[in-house]
Amino acid sequence: EAKGAGRNRASSFNWSLKERFNRIHEIETGLRRALDGDELQLMFQPIVALDGGDIDACEALIRWNHPVLGSIPPSEFIPIAESMGLIEALTGWVLRQACIAAAGWPGEVRVAINISPASLKSHDLPSHVIAALLETGLPARRLELEVTESIFLDDSGQTSTILRELQRIGLRLALDDFGTGYSSLSYLRSYRFDTLKIDQSFMAGISANAEDRAIVRAIGNLARDLSMDTVAEGIETQDQLAHAREAGFTNVQGYLFSRPVTNERIIELIEAGPLHGEERPD
Ligand code: C2E
Ligand code: MG
Ligand code: MG
Ligand code: MG
Repeated sequence: EAKGAGRNRASSFNWSLKERFNRIHEIETGLRRALDGDELQLMFQPIVALDGGDIDACEALIRWNHPVLGSIPPSEFIPIAESMGLIEALTGWVLRQACIAAAGWPGEVRVAINISPASLKSHDLPSHVIAALLETGLPARRLELEVTESIFLDDSGQTSTILRELQRIGLRLALDDFGTGYSSLSYLRSYRFDTLKIDQSFMAGISANAEDRAIVRAIGNLARDLSMDTVAEGIETQDQLAHAREAGFTNVQGYLFSRPVTNERIIELIEAGPLHGEERPD
């Protein structure tokens, strides 16, 4: 508000709308350039086995370092990429970079990438996945796709066809941000998800909130009975870690173990061995 403080309400309102418009315009024009250039980067965050501390997988998280606007969060530019019809190109970039990186990791560590609902409507996705695996030599079992519940709002049948094709290739499927979206459990019957990732909002409130504890425990039981791996996202404290353990989760992910880091750093972390989670000053 500091900038608008000396103006009257109306002009300050107009000014901020104009600023917003300019920013969206910068992002729109910049996205094509970013996809061709070197402004995009993939960071990787470990997904750790609760039993033993091994890094089972790493989630690829995209970063955009814009020459003028600085770092733009994916939550801001992914929806714009979707509305511009650029999400397929972006998903293709992420897929290829993630497979290149993971093919160079020691051992059997998987890479997990986020797939927007819009990309799951494209019949080209399975062939892009096959091409990326063949090009990089990464085995299909080491690639996991994270999708959100919102994909089930599409009832055209296209999404389910594509999901099944991806499973036939041998990829693993994870249901991301579980508990925040479409409120029906029936899709857990029709798809065999390998992994359930409970949304970090449940873990955020868990120390103070008995309702969150009950929900997390119920999800832990449900997933175990359906033989799914379970990831508790957003683990920042020892207390949250203890609750994830108590609820029977198989895996944890969060700043307590590591922030998203560069590919060079993730290789060091994988080589250094098990992560047990320490309170970090940062
Ligand atoms: P997500 O898939 O649920 O990813 C987890 C988000 O939580 C990431 O934010 C990660 O940095 C953050 N996070 C991890 N541990 C902690 C923690 O302990 N505390 C807190 N407060 N946050 C933690 P990020 O990287 O900003 O990504 C946000 C969302 O943007 C992702 O949510 C995903 O939906 C989307 N996204 C990121 N990369 C891609 C991508 O390559 N493609 C697509 N389609 N979407 C992406
Ligand atoms: Mg994710
Ligand atoms: Mg998530
Ligand atoms: Mg999330």
